[in-house]
Amino acid sequence: MSKEGSTEAPIRHPIDFESPDFLNPEKLDSEMRRVFDICHGCRRCFNLCDSFPKLFDMIDESKNEDVESLSSNQFAPVVDACTLCDMCFMTKCPYVPPHDFDLDFPHLMLRYRMAQKKKVHYLLFLDN
Ligand code: SF4
Ligand code: SF4
Repeated sequence: MSKEGSTEAPIRHPIDFESPDFLNPEKLDSEMRRVFDICHGCRRCFNLCDSFPKLFDMIDESKNEDVESLSSNQFAPVVDACTLCDMCFMTKCPYVPPHDFDLDFPHLMLRYRMAQKKKVHYLLFLDN
């Protein structure tokens, strides 16, 4: 069992972009909700960037004030506000690997952006 808030350096896993699950829309949506729910309970990153305030306000203003009340098309502004500075992962988060939560917020933002790009390319392809 990993300790929360360890003083050891975080372990960063390589991005698993070759996994069939990586761009699977249901798996990605479920991972976004899992991570957003943990972040909403934690809130330590509220002042690091625009992504977290957007996320927390969105959840607080949702019907039941929980992640399940959000629709998936509300996620994009949170991702768009992330500059990938890596501060949440490197300096703030007690849930990064080796913690069991295995939370890497910036990598999740990259995964979402890759899925967005693939979708756009697919739609462009269909148009031609
Ligand atoms: S990596 Fe993104 S979400 Fe994390 S602190 Fe930087 S801008 Fe915010
Ligand atoms: S990234 Fe980690 S520290 Fe930041 S709000 Fe989410 S769970 Fe908390």
